[in-house]
Amino acid sequence: MSKKSGSSTADTNNRAEGGNLQFNLAAEVFEAQRPVAGRVERNSPVLRATGLHKSFFKGKLEIPVLNGVDFEAREGEVTAIMGQSGSGKSTLLHLLATLDDPTSGEIHFGQRRIDNLPTRQRDKIRNKKFGMIFQFYYLLPELTTLENVLTPCMIADSWLAYRFNRKKYRARAEELLDMVGLSHRLKHRPRELSGGEMQRAAIARALISEPEILLADEPTGNLDQANGQEILKILRTLNTEQGLTIIMVTHDRAIADKADHCVRLVNGHVEVVSPDCQRAIRIG
Ligand code: ADP
Ligand code: MG
Repeated sequence: MSKKSGSSTADTNNRAEGGNLQFNLAAEVFEAQRPVAGRVERNSPVLRATGLHKSFFKGKLEIPVLNGVDFEAREGEVTAIMGQSGSGKSTLLHLLATLDDPTSGEIHFGQRRIDNLPTRQRDKIRNKKFGMIFQFYYLLPELTTLENVLTPCMIADSWLAYRFNRKKYRARAEELLDMVGLSHRLKHRPRELSGGEMQRAAIARALISEPEILLADEPTGNLDQANGQEILKILRTLNTEQGLTIIMVTHDRAIADKADHCVRLVNGHVEVVSPDCQRAIRIG
């Protein structure tokens, strides 16, 4: 993270919103922790797509969006997916998360192909291994912050199992909410939270299942700069301190520049713009 991005405004804002000191890292620490640009050695791929095609159909009209995308996210790295609005970034992220099916092509999680698994198995992998956050948070309006964070556990467990485990889940949810600086907002409903707070709650919800990969679709797209920086700082800390692999969609070049690796979607193909985001190599 560059010095200009770890602004004192963000720190002040975090404190003002009751942020946990754990995330009030100095910009210099971020910079020091960031993997060195231009390095040759990289970690092994954890999520990989090959020859991905995706078309949507409106009646007989085919809308091709992805035309042979090769993509990989490596363990413990932050990978940014850039591209203009409508270039297929969300479509690609949804396919990687098995929320939608590719028209053709393959997706592998580690050594395992996952795009062709039965729905229940894909649901299980998604619930256990992938955490997701979105531009518009998608918190349930009638639930409190704490309840929203607990929803993945409620969905994953049977009623009986959830009752049995709920103390443990609640303790973990409170720990995560403390980590993102929201311990003073446990009983607030989403409408009583700021945008930054809602996104922090969504991050806690994404982490409750202890995922291996966090997939983020424009996580700062609806936030002002200070709150956006705060969210990025939380994500980078999760990456550097817990080794969380992150795939982040953004149309913001300044954000993508801070990733370890970035790719850009152009005409349904992937351009690699990595690791310093200065050089574009057409591979699609
Ligand atoms: P981005 O996230 O890069 O802005 P999207 O992946 O959301 O782009 O969309 C890529 C293209 O696919 C857009 O032209 C969009 O209109 C189209 N598209 C996305 N989802 C659907 C859908 N469910 N049905 C039809 N067209 C869609
Ligand atoms: Mg999108």
